[in-house]
Amino acid sequence: MDKMTLIPTVNGQEIPNLVPSELRLDQPSVDMSSAERFLERCTALILEEAVKRATNRSEKVCEWVSPQQLQQLLDLDLGDTGESEEELLQRCRDVIKYSVKTVHPHFFNQLFCGLEPYSLAASFIIEALKPSIYTYEVAPVFTVMEKVVLKKIIEVIGWEDGDGIFNAGGSLSNMYAINLARFHYCPEIKELGMSASPRLVLFTSQNSHYSIVKSAAFLGIGTKNVYMVPCDERGKMIPGALEEMILKAKKEGAQPFMVNATAGSTVLGAFDPIEQIADICEKYDLWLHVDACWGGAVILSKKHKHLLQGIHRANSVAWNPHKMMMACLQCCAFVVRDQKHLLERCYSAKARYLFQQDKFYDVTFDTGDKSIQCGRKPDAFKLWLLWKALGSNRLEQRVERALAMAHYLTQQIKDRQEFQLFMEPEYTNVCFWYVPPSLRNVPVGPEFWNKLHKVAPVIKERMIKKGSLMVGYQPHGDKANFFRMVIISPQVTSEDMDFVLDEIHCLGQDL
Ligand SMILES: *Cc1c(COP(=O)(O)O)cnc(C)c1O
Repeated sequence: MDKMTLIPTVNGQEIPNLVPSELRLDQPSVDMSSAERFLERCTALILEEAVKRATNRSEKVCEWVSPQQLQQLLDLDLGDTGESEEELLQRCRDVIKYSVKTVHPHFFNQLFCGLEPYSLAASFIIEALKPSIYTYEVAPVFTVMEKVVLKKIIEVIGWEDGDGIFNAGGSLSNMYAINLARFHYCPEIKELGMSASPRLVLFTSQNSHYSIVKSAAFLGIGTKNVYMVPCDERGKMIPGALEEMILKAKKEGAQPFMVNATAGSTVLGAFDPIEQIADICEKYDLWLHVDACWGGAVILSKKHKHLLQGIHRANSVAWNPHKMMMACLQCCAFVVRDQKHLLERCYSAKARYLFQQDKFYDVTFDTGDKSIQCGRKPDAFKLWLLWKALGSNRLEQRVERALAMAHYLTQQIKDRQEFQLFMEPEYTNVCFWYVPPSLRNVPVGPEFWNKLHKVAPVIKERMIKKGSLMVGYQPHGDKANFFRMVIISPQVTSEDMDFVLDEIHCLGQDL
């Protein structure tokens, strides 16, 4: 056999001197003992600054600096020579200092927050082990663990069996759902592409997450083929309106294929009536996906699971344990009721360098071809360790406490004249306006709403610059900007709820 067939070349020239003499190949070129020392010191720093200080109420939630200032402050340019251990530790300290402390008890800005120690430990272990969960060969523990966690989720949803995968984001889970539904009705599309597809239309409520529309754009369905079903005054999809829109689409010659029901909408925390929507899906043979990214956690609460009534009739469900369950980012489960390898049939590309069929073990444990990714993190571990630590009972308590806390806050808002509730919450989203004293005697009308609309953005700016609190605000439909509090973390107490209202009042009373 000719040994010299493939010599590396550049522009047809052989590359000279691939092993220059100054490179020592007979010993490692990194010093592991200094690497270990750096990690030890950095771990102590993380514990001190990103855990203890970041969760301390007397510390700031954020350290506001403008983007221009921040870029100068941090000296971000990457140079030719490396820096010392001391300099690097200082860099890490600065990164923590200027980052928002989403684990702080006064961070309420997003649907994730708070410190979850078990999940954090799982994240550390994952990063240290650096596995990629596509084959059993390279991630044996995490492969069998993901199966167990998915199975548990399938069980609590109420399905006999099913399949699933953890994804890098709930948005991605929703995208999987749309693509799977499409593949279910038009399997030819995998090979033939869009030309094999009629005009497909999907239905989702006006209050659904924007990832549905994004996915329709990404998947070539088209944003105009996402029919936005109106909601009632509580933000829930109106089933009658859904049915009308399905009939309208059919009349247009389009093919309806899927309905997305939202369980816990992002702003209002509204739950679409799944049972009634499932009836309609059955009647018209449509795929029912439930986006329970935010609200899925109520399934663990006997007291509140009625909000998800009918979820067992869904074809697929997206749930983000990194939200209400407080698993570390990201932890997003996507499950399907199908038991006929739909995920695999839809996504597999059978890469022969990973998924060899002649391996010495049971290759059905190589789950990577169910994913549109290649490498994937073992996110299920972040939920698994937490679940092991607390058990279903304490997870249930956690959810119920968060809802009770939302109820407490709602009462406080009702009791204070400078606050006005947007609507009675169903979940832990508590939406409200702050009405400054100057507006108290303005009659409710266009002028009042125009002025009120400008209040929340100013208070938000002030709270961030002060670093005392972070709460989101938004307009909704034709409604003026209002605050949206979300309660998740078991760290927070009723005193923190009082603090939020006191602080907003303190920051906005002169407006
Ligand atoms: C947060 C959220 C999503 C998106 O999840 P990501 O993990 O942020 O992509 C989808 N749907 C709803 C209802 C959400 O609240």
